[in-house]
Amino acid sequence: MSLPKLPKLPSIRDLIRIYNLRAKQQLSQNFIMDKNITDKIVQLAGLELESSLCVEVGPGPGLLTRSILGKGARNVIAVEKDPRFVPTLEQLRDASDGRFDVMLDDMLTVDHGKIIQRGLALGSNADNQISEFEHVHLVGNLPFSVATPLLVQWLHLLATKKGIFLSPNVSMSLMFQKEVGLRIVAPASNTERGRLSVVAQSICDAFKIYGVPASSFVPRPKVDAMVVQLRPLAQPLLKSSLGTLEHVARFSFMKRRKMMARIFKDWDPSHVALLEECEIDPTLRPQDVTTEKFCNLAQLIEARGLRLP
Ligand code: SAM
Repeated sequence: MSLPKLPKLPSIRDLIRIYNLRAKQQLSQNFIMDKNITDKIVQLAGLELESSLCVEVGPGPGLLTRSILGKGARNVIAVEKDPRFVPTLEQLRDASDGRFDVMLDDMLTVDHGKIIQRGLALGSNADNQISEFEHVHLVGNLPFSVATPLLVQWLHLLATKKGIFLSPNVSMSLMFQKEVGLRIVAPASNTERGRLSVVAQSICDAFKIYGVPASSFVPRPKVDAMVVQLRPLAQPLLKSSLGTLEHVARFSFMKRRKMMARIFKDWDPSHVALLEECEIDPTLRPQDVTTEKFCNLAQLIEARGLRLP
């Protein structure tokens, strides 16, 4: 099957000028204007494009969307909160030969069932009566202000196989502030290690695929960015609810410079024994405890019905 192509479109710079799309700080709008960068992100994300649904979060004026479509994606749904981008995105939809549609919605509250429905209604799917997608890719240059709440929400949906995470194969290729990206991928004993590392790595393999300097964005943010890929683990380490693990990790990392024994003693002196039961060296600091050991600890705390402060 030949690769579907996009017709020639006005440049993103021109669209921003024509529609007077001044970036809104409250929606964390920092745009990428260099197509080499968005093409590189799509290439490194290694998207499986046949029989897959690609969900883009926050397409803005749509350069990353163009790269996704340019790579041959047949089913792309973008969720954008800012109505000012709808005309440019509708223009792209009309040029996409039924491969792309846009939803004006908030990704934090959108009904995932509607995303799937819109994906299934796209061009050839409607004709071929496809009822589900084998792969779902979540992609986006995320609004930095809500990137962490979005990721945590998606990890909860992935852990419980809900929403777009019901699909058998899901991957996420997401741009974060560099500091947040480093935290997500940090292994045990890394200084960047934190709650997000433990929670993400309990159910996903998380790794950096691309670094993007602040100078690549308009307007220029204060910090560099990083694209992280998260792929669900075939054998998740998580043995409790993700909520319990999140609670245990948050509680431990709140006192990140203290030893685990001290942190648990401050909670209740009798709870230091939990560490020994999980074979966690009580002299370790939270950043040195492996994800697997945190998962064992969360499992024990949940099984005993203990309430963390
Ligand atoms: N994808 C574009 C790019 O790379 O140039 C824009 C990225 S910009 C960092 C973030 C985008 O997310 C903006 O278009 C913004 O309006 C949108 N956005 C912010 N909050 C959102 C939310 N809760 N749901 C969906 N989109 C959101």
